[in-house]
Amino acid sequence: MQNNAHLPYALQCSIISFLKRYKHSRWMQWQPNYPARIGITVGAECDFGKAMALCGVNNWLCQHADYCPRCSVRLRAKSAAREYRTSFELAPYWYAISPSFELNPKRAGLRFVTQKPDRRKGIPGKHRRLNPYKGCEAGVPLTSDAHLVDGEENPVIACFETVFKFASALVQCGMAGGVLAHREIAWHFRPHRLTPNGHLLLNTRVPFDFDLAVEMLFLFERLYLRQRHGRCLYPDLHLEQIVNQKEITRWIFYMLKPMDYVTGYLQSVQAGVDLAALNLEVDDRIFQGGSKILSVRSPRRFGNLRCNAAGYIGSGSITAWRNEQAARRKAERERLGLPMPKPPTTSRLGRIIDREADRIEAEV
Ligand SMILES: [Zn+2]
Repeated sequence: MQNNAHLPYALQCSIISFLKRYKHSRWMQWQPNYPARIGITVGAECDFGKAMALCGVNNWLCQHADYCPRCSVRLRAKSAAREYRTSFELAPYWYAISPSFELNPKRAGLRFVTQKPDRRKGIPGKHRRLNPYKGCEAGVPLTSDAHLVDGEENPVIACFETVFKFASALVQCGMAGGVLAHREIAWHFRPHRLTPNGHLLLNTRVPFDFDLAVEMLFLFERLYLRQRHGRCLYPDLHLEQIVNQKEITRWIFYMLKPMDYVTGYLQSVQAGVDLAALNLEVDDRIFQGGSKILSVRSPRRFGNLRCNAAGYIGSGSITAWRNEQAARRKAERERLGLPMPKPPTTSRLGRIIDREADRIEAEV
């Protein structure tokens, strides 16, 4: 990222601004691969690379929560963690479930955690597995190719829809009281491939045992096969109990993290692929193709985790909370006689870049 002389001036300024803030922010340093993420986004010359690098300047957010660590925390994770910060006591059992899709039939199936690992006490993790697809043909690798898209549906969107239908079905059949569900993609490059998956936070009145988890896997499989494009991969389910409020919060932050395209990119770089071609592929696949796939609305809430449902166990709707926060900030600004901030617009982003550029020039 330091070597950015070939980039347009505004982009160079946004990178310098990012690096300066990164140097002084422990939170930014704590995010995995944050500079690499910005470098990849800017290097791929995607439309919002500049916005993502400048995200956080003057509390301005770029709004790309699927890509940007700051926006995923500020717009998704923090508010959800706040909404369910006292929910643990209000439902008997909580689970973290990851419904995913696997190319390799040998590996796909159920992974049911029977004992959580505890590093401090030296307790190893234990789990039971079921791999019912052993011996089947290998799945079809998915890509973000435009030719797969026919209007609304394609094999990737079919996977996401299955995750949300699964969450909704668990609530409808009474196995879950409520579910918070989110979709995610793991990206691989050169050759390009993507793995769709989901994460659920679920509460229930009856504890799940292995047999019930097997039932869940087959329900998930049925819902996937029912999709028009749902025969490409094998369903895979990871199930683990959550035992306290701290774990709920940790799981919410994990499940709502921005999607990972950095690991795949760095692996490709290590494998020695052509960098220009890689950057082109990243732009084409993630930032152009990805926007179509990610149009599937997420996260979604079901059952008692939905603020307008009967028996709601959260602490209030996020929209109401955001409005309350905005009103509080507005009152505070009025009290101090500060000017009101304008809503974020493209021209405002332009001004931020200009100002950062001026500041950098003044310092040089
Ligand atoms: Zn952002």
